[in-house]
Amino acid sequence: MNLKELRDAALKEVLGAKNLEELEKLEIKYLGRKGELTEILRGLKDMAEDERKKIGNFANQLKYELDGMIEKKRKELGKSLEAVKEWIDITAPGKKLPAGHLHPRTQVMRQVEKIFQSLGFSVIDGPELETDYYNFEALRIPKDHPARDMQDTFYINDNLLLRTQTSPNQVRYMEKHNPPLRVIVPGKCFRRDSTDASHEVQFYQVEGLMVDKNISVASFKSVISAFLKQFFNREVKTRLRPSFFPFTEPSFELDMECLICDGKGCSVCKDTGWLEVIPGGMVHPFVFKSAGYSPYEWQGYAFGMGLDRMVMMKYKINDVRLLNFGDMRFLKQF
Ligand SMILES: [Zn+2]
Repeated sequence: MNLKELRDAALKEVLGAKNLEELEKLEIKYLGRKGELTEILRGLKDMAEDERKKIGNFANQLKYELDGMIEKKRKELGKSLEAVKEWIDITAPGKKLPAGHLHPRTQVMRQVEKIFQSLGFSVIDGPELETDYYNFEALRIPKDHPARDMQDTFYINDNLLLRTQTSPNQVRYMEKHNPPLRVIVPGKCFRRDSTDASHEVQFYQVEGLMVDKNISVASFKSVISAFLKQFFNREVKTRLRPSFFPFTEPSFELDMECLICDGKGCSVCKDTGWLEVIPGGMVHPFVFKSAGYSPYEWQGYAFGMGLDRMVMMKYKINDVRLLNFGDMRFLKQF
């Protein structure tokens, strides 16, 4: 092979190299220690002077040219390698951002609202910062009433406090609306309680109020039974026990059959087979008078369901504090 053929072959191969590895092999093939061009250059010393000059010139030029060509090609291939790294596949699916979901308490609250709406109730809202009048006085709990001891709370001043119950909205709503009416008031309440597995300083209630001409205890029981059946998605036995609240007469506790043991008795229901879920009663004439209604004309019932308790029973959670900790390991389960 003469030098000219060598040059043509070498340049053609270098230009056609498809990757760095191939290029490296070509560099060794021509310019390596035992490379074809290297051999020729090495053989120069054995040649006659004029031949040596002629071939030497050409060979050195070729070496220079080949070096430059390989270097140039190396840069090209390197660049295309980078381009591969930066190449964007527009058909690839996007990165999914982790999606959150509603807190279990909010999920339950919305379910409760939906069920009561299906029973003809409106969902209303009321202030968390309440006056002494609406929270206590209008509900027949005067300043010296012992019921205030059980509902000690956080006072802003003598007149303003964080509401201890959602019940102030009974009078608030009735003052502005004419009967007949059916409302529920879900929301946060506050008491100065010590925190334990079933008590928190901040908890959620759902107040209920129904006022019409012929409302009886039976109306209350039937509405609550319908609610519980839908909420737990099964038939739930209930019973009423007498109780006392200053703003209802008669007052009672509505118990439901313990769903954990099906009424046989377990640690959750303290072996009674029953759980207190919804305290309530018939609206006291005093409360109707506070709102400007005639107690001779209107009747009604009111209740204050503990929402946290409903969440705990629905999901079988044994500590109310879990609902407030914001622990993702707990919350991700719902
Ligand atoms: Zn039980």
